[in-house]
Formats: sequence, structure tokens, C-alpha cells
Amino acid sequence: MSSDLSPSLISRWFNTPLWKRILFALVLGVIVGVIWGEGAQSIRWIGDLFIRAIQMVVVPLVFITIVAGVVSMGDPKRLGSLGIKTLALYMVTTLIAITIGLTLAALIQPGLGVDLSAAVPGTLQEPVSFRDQLMRIVPTNPIAALASGDFLAIIFFAILFGAGIISVGESGKPMADLMDSGAAIMLKLTGWVMEVAPFGVFALIAWVSGTQGVAALMDVIPLAGTATLAFALHFFLVYGGMMKFMLHLSPYKFFRNVKNAVLVAFSTSSSSATLPVTISVAEKNLGIRPVIASTVLPLGATINMDGSAIYVGVVSVFAAQAFGVDLTLVDYFIMAGATTLVSIGTAAVPGASVFLMAGVMATIGLSPVQIALVVGFVLPFDRPLDMMRTCLNVTGDLACATAVAKWENELDETTFNSANEMMDVKTGAGQ
Ligand code: ASP
Repeated sequence: MSSDLSPSLISRWFNTPLWKRILFALVLGVIVGVIWGEGAQSIRWIGDLFIRAIQMVVVPLVFITIVAGVVSMGDPKRLGSLGIKTLALYMVTTLIAITIGLTLAALIQPGLGVDLSAAVPGTLQEPVSFRDQLMRIVPTNPIAALASGDFLAIIFFAILFGAGIISVGESGKPMADLMDSGAAIMLKLTGWVMEVAPFGVFALIAWVSGTQGVAALMDVIPLAGTATLAFALHFFLVYGGMMKFMLHLSPYKFFRNVKNAVLVAFSTSSSSATLPVTISVAEKNLGIRPVIASTVLPLGATINMDGSAIYVGVVSVFAAQAFGVDLTLVDYFIMAGATTLVSIGTAAVPGASVFLMAGVMATIGLSPVQIALVVGFVLPFDRPLDMMRTCLNVTGDLACATAVAKWENELDETTFNSANEMMDVKTGAGQ
């Protein structure tokens, strides 16, 4: 009987939409993690393997799709207007995010009466100066930038390379074709890797819920609660509002279309690991044409981090309250500016913003010792909050890409409005 059962189980598995399989894995992962506890550490390697597989795709995908995207614009001048719109939107959404974070933290006052003296000081990363951030954009060796996954440098070189292909005209054609076919192949690989996602997600979530017990969260409920509320407000009001009032698109359909990327962001805590899925979701579910998806999204994964901005803002206000530092309106403005810069420099990997908040906290006069205590206090429960802020980081990129696509007439609204199922057996990975 079991021989009858297994083929039908397998086909049922593959016939179930990917997001349902991932969600199922997520719920199962929580249950197994809670029951198994620390033991769940032993299956973490399955999750790590999934993250490695998906990261394997990122660097070639980013380079090739940006080049292909720029070439398909056909006119380097268009790049300028697109770039300005994209950067402006990324900046504005980040500023709204940080404003929500700072306002809620000022109102709820999660740091009032919190005693941080028992925290084990965390180690800090030196904040990267703005000048150094600018320097890093121009690679001295593009191959080295590709090898070390230095995204801003890769993006910069890819844009120039694409513009070069257009400028040389006919002799650039073979390279343009090569990049086009490379982009299609990389997206296909992403589809294959995504078939492993449910197993990876299961292992990652079991590990997180098994090792980072709810107890760790208890100490920090006001802080975590404030951050979560700010995340939720930004997610639904800002992205939903952008869809409804700015773009006249259905917010419901937007959220429905992005769910695969959100689920992967949630379980991997890394916008850069999620990027291949983000690009697939944009093209196949949201109907954003490759010319926009492939240029706007890699940049977003690197510099646009609404969730991280909210978090850095909330923690900084929390720290000021805990240490009794009075904040003036000017302090809030300084924090908003500093957080926007920090979120640009934050790597799109798990836990990145925790180590980069030092720069923001220093602007309001906290000492290195105090900052180290705050980092030590938030670190133990960072993962669940990192999962949430990564969801926002990725959704923010997709919302901005949708807006730019609509403005540039590169949004296929029929695809946006229809219930596509990205990377299902029938439509993607299994083809
Ligand atoms: N994990 C976040 C991301 O990859 C970055 C952070 O806020 O730590 O988007």
C-alpha cells in the first residue's frame, strides 16, 4: 500500500503552491523546535545548506541581471531618471520608517526604568564613515568585488558595463545576448533552489525556536513590542498606502504577490540571500518587467532597509531612555539622518544592524561602554526581530520597484492582478 501512497504524496507535494509548502514547513519547524529545544541545533545544517545554495545564485544573478536590465533600457539617459526616482523613493520610505520608529519609541517609552547593568557587553563594529562608503562603490578590481560579494561595487560596475554594451552598438550585441540568456538561466536556477526552501525553512525555524526560547523575549517585551508595532504599521500602512493611494493598485494583491519573498526573508533573515526570490516574485507575480526588477531590486537589497531603520531608531531611543539621556527634537532629527545613512551601509545579512547601531547611538552622546551594554542586551533575542525587519526590508524594495515600474510604464497590471503562483511545478521550477 505504501508504494501506492508515496508517488501520490510526491505529486501532491509538487502540486501544492510553494508558499503553502514553505508556510507548512515554518509551522512544523516551530512545533518541532519547541518540543526538541536545543537539540534542534543538530538540523541547522540543512538550513545553512539552503542559505548557501541560494547565496550561490546571488552574485552572478545580480551582475548578469543588472547588465541585461541596463541593456534592455536601450538608452543610458533613461538610467539617470530611473536612478533618481529609485533613490528618492528609497530615501523617502526609509525616512518614513525611521520617523515611525522614533515616534512610537518616544510615545511608548520602552526603555523607561530598564536596568541594563546586568547585560553582558557586546562587541562593536567600527562604523564605516560616509567617505569610506563612497569609496567602496568604485572597485579597484571588479573581479575581486565579485569574488567577495561587494554589492555596491558590483552594481556600479554592472551598470557601467551595461552602458558600455549599449554605447558600442552592433559589436556589443553578442555580449547583450549572452547576458540575456545568462539572466534567464540564473532565474531558472533560483526556481530549482526554491524547491529546497521548505526543508531549509523547516530546519532554520526549528533551530531558532528551539534555541532562542520565548524566555529570552520576556525581558525585552516592551522593546520588542514597540519594534513589532512599528514594523506592522509601516508594512500595512506605508506599503499598503503606497499601493492604494499612490499607485491605485490593490494592496491585497500586492501582499498576496510578494508572500514567497516575505516567507524566505523571514526564515533566512537576509535580504541578500532572498534577492533571487525577490527578483522572481517581482517579475512573475507582480508583473514588474525585467528592465526594472533587475536594476531596482539589487540596489534596494543593498541600500534600502526600512525594517533595519525602524529597529535602529527604536533601540537608540530605548537606550537613551534607559540611560536617562534627555532627547531634544534636534536629537531626533540627527538620529533620523544617521539611521538613514547607517541603513545604507548595513550589510543585507543576519544580525547586521545590531552591530551598526553604534554610530547612531554615538550621535546622541552615549558612551562606547553604554553602547556595548545595549548591544549585549538586545543580541540574545535579536533573531526573531531580525526576521521581521528583513521581511520589511524586502517588501520595501518590492513596493518601491512596483512604483518605479508603474511610473516608467513597465508594470504588467494583468500579471499583478492575476493570482500567479511563482515557481510552481507547472509554471517555473519544475518545467
Ligand atoms: N538582516 C537584515 C537584512 O538582511 C539586516 C539587519 O537589519 O540586520 O535585511
